Amino acid sequence: MFSIFIFICVFIINTSSLQLNDVILCRTCGNTISLSNAISEKRSLLSLKTFNDTLFSSENVIVQILTKDVIFNFPIIITNYSNCIGLGEWEEDEELWFTGYRWRPCLCPDCGVLVGWLFEKYNPLGSNNSFHEVRDQFYALILPNLVSQRFLDSIIIGLHE
Ligand SMILES: [Zn+2]
Repeated sequence: MFSIFIFICVFIINTSSLQLNDVILCRTCGNTISLSNAISEKRSLLSLKTFNDTLFSSENVIVQILTKDVIFNFPIIITNYSNCIGLGEWEEDEELWFTGYRWRPCLCPDCGVLVGWLFEKYNPLGSNNSFHEVRDQFYALILPNLVSQRFLDSIIIGLHE
C-alpha cells in the first residue's frame, strides 16, 4: 500500500515537472521534435556569433550562428535529445562544427523536413559501438525550423478571447 502511495507521488511530481517544460515542435507540421529541458550549453568553436535568448520558455538558451557549405548560415540550439530521424550514413571524413564528432542530417519523423543534425563522438581508431561505451550524442537543431508549443497555445487562446 505504501509503495502504491510512493508511486502516485512520483507520478504526480513527474507530471507536474513535465508541464513546466515547453515542447519544441516542427514548424512545418507541428510534430514534437524535442523538449526544452533537453537544451544543452555545448558550444562550437566555429560559431560566427553566440548569444543568449529566452526561447521555449527557458532563459539563457545559447544560440549559435554556424556556417555550412560556405554560404548557408544556421541559427542553431543544441539539445541532448530529439526524436528526429538521422538520414543516411554517418559523415566521418569531413567534420562539421564539432571536432571529434561524426554527423548526419536529422529529419522530422512526420513531414521529413530537415530540422538539424545528429552528432556522435567518433574515434576512427576503433572502440566505437562498443557494448560498454556510452554513446556521446547530441543534436544541433535549426531554430527557424522549430516553434514553441507554449507560443502556439498562447496564439490559440488569444484567438478565442
Ligand atoms: Zn515536421
